Amino acid sequence: MEKFYITTSIAYANAFPHIGFALESVQADVLARWNRSLEKEVFFLTGTDEHGTKIAKKAEEKGKSPQDFVDEISRKFLALTKILNISNDDFIRTTDKKRHWPVVEKFWKQLVDNGDIYKKKYRGFYCSGCEAFIADRDLKDGKCSIHKKELEEVEEENYFFRLSKYQDTIKKKIEKDELKIIPETRKNEILGLIKQKLDDVSFSRSREKLKWGIPVPGDNSQTIYVWADALVNYISALNNNFDKYWPADIHCVGKDILRFHALVWPAMLLSLKISLPKKIFVHGFISVDGQKMSKSLGNVVDPFELVKKYGADVVRYYLLKEITSSEDGDFSYEKFERRYNSDLASGIGNLVARVKTMAEKVGFKPGNIKDVEPRIMKTQKEYKKALEDFKFNEALKPIWDLISFCDKYIEKEKPWEHSSNSTQVLDNLLIVLDNISELLGPFLPETSEKIKKEIARKNSKFLNKKSPVLFPKLC
Ligand SMILES: [Zn+2]
Repeated sequence: MEKFYITTSIAYANAFPHIGFALESVQADVLARWNRSLEKEVFFLTGTDEHGTKIAKKAEEKGKSPQDFVDEISRKFLALTKILNISNDDFIRTTDKKRHWPVVEKFWKQLVDNGDIYKKKYRGFYCSGCEAFIADRDLKDGKCSIHKKELEEVEEENYFFRLSKYQDTIKKKIEKDELKIIPETRKNEILGLIKQKLDDVSFSRSREKLKWGIPVPGDNSQTIYVWADALVNYISALNNNFDKYWPADIHCVGKDILRFHALVWPAMLLSLKISLPKKIFVHGFISVDGQKMSKSLGNVVDPFELVKKYGADVVRYYLLKEITSSEDGDFSYEKFERRYNSDLASGIGNLVARVKTMAEKVGFKPGNIKDVEPRIMKTQKEYKKALEDFKFNEALKPIWDLISFCDKYIEKEKPWEHSSNSTQVLDNLLIVLDNISELLGPFLPETSEKIKKEIARKNSKFLNKKSPVLFPKLC
């Protein structure tokens, strides 16, 4: 059996999850479910990143211990995976002292043994948003270009990691797609960074500045840098299954943390002579009504409320259909409800109800599937191609094309007129619905199951008489 190991990035546990994390989880879930349907042995990992200055500060503001604080946030992220119907096999936390810490310590010691960690006095600008030192060339008006916040000037003696030593190897691997970065624009962005030459990275902070983290083995005055800790989750979570699942087939990440995944992580693995992940898939950010989501603007979309009101599949559908998978996208309630009514209520929901009602009245009998077979095969082909290219919205399109094909087929054949081939037409339509429910599985797992139940049949009889409305129209 072929294996397939997929990860989301682990969510930074400094605030409750917003719709952006839902996007990444849902995208990864489609890939995990699709690969399971191809009968691969899938391991799908997600989790929370729980160390760092920002978390320690937030906990203090709330009058909580950092551990209590991250426990609460991590529970919320876990709850989100449940309500969104994410099919992850595991959930790793970086505060897990049994599973995660020993592996990070082992990584550190091996980096030291390989001569890739050294001590250096350093002066630089630290962004607590990025949890990283920002190089002079990346400053914009003295601020971090992502967080647009004033930076903290730091002077301390830290341990450094020889990232520069690995830049040529990483460059070659990325150019040759041995480490494939998707989409191409992101690949070029990383190659551009390598061209400017990579600096070694600070891999620890003084214990005084950062108490909330894993101590450097053999030097209690220093704490391991959060990224050197967090990235290791992809391996620490595998426990004894390392040989079975590594290398990761896909890391799904946001565009803001690509450089850590495409540069720092591969360099650490190269130092330890561990093979590199195969692919990194990069998604964009979600704005709300065209504006950046922020607490101060009060426009943060709570995925829990959304799922409670509309159901998991409706939220999944919007994220997968409306957001171009590797670009920035926008959320608005207006667009959300429009999509719901046109594609779900009037689209798939209406078709299932209509076909079932007619088939009950007119009957259905195996017949000539020549009418629909080529159409189904075309859909499957386009769907597969789009998923292989990580284009989720484009994988949904042929399914909806098939739905409108059915609507036209019904108008043309008028099976309600009880002509000689009406029962065969209805049988054909049921066969198409079988296929649609199959294709929808990775995207809308609940809806797929409901359709399957709805049209389950034996000897030209439906097993399930009652027909609940799949997607009641919103007013
Ligand atoms: Zn920043």
